[in-house]
Amino acid sequence: MFEDEVEVLTIQDAEKARNITNEGLSAGLYLMNAPCSFLNMTGRCEVYDRRPTVCGMYPFKVNTSGNSVGLQPCPIGFLIIQDFAEWIVTSFSRSDVSDEEKARIKEEWKKNVDAYAAELVDFHSKQTLNEMQIPFDELEMLSMFLSSGSNVSTLKRETH
Ligand code: SF4
Repeated sequence: MFEDEVEVLTIQDAEKARNITNEGLSAGLYLMNAPCSFLNMTGRCEVYDRRPTVCGMYPFKVNTSGNSVGLQPCPIGFLIIQDFAEWIVTSFSRSDVSDEEKARIKEEWKKNVDAYAAELVDFHSKQTLNEMQIPFDELEMLSMFLSSGSNVSTLKRETH
């Protein structure tokens, strides 16, 4: 997040904003240590109207490695990716992909979803969480999923 966004959060709650750091980051850039102090125990953002830009992009972020898109470790991110994985498993039918490759992708996503679900156990008490990665070569499928309307159920379940 940016400096002016840190100022907004500090005005909102200076104690919670102490969880924000710029250690190891370029000048002018900050991050909130996970889990975010402004996420309350009912899964609601306490500063939703003033949330940083990066939160508006949530749950997606481009990783510095440059070869994947990261999904933030969060219950809503999990719902989105769970729907995406189910969509891949049940309706992925690109003709230019071999049956063998389709089976491999499906199996990989099943494992990813299980791993992500395990990561979310005791979500609020963890200091560090692993992100789920979507390789760039699978972004086309994510785009197909998002434009298919299959993600509507996720949006209806949104509580964040
Ligand atoms: S949207 Fe989520 S990560 Fe961003 S400030 Fe609110 S609770 Fe924190």
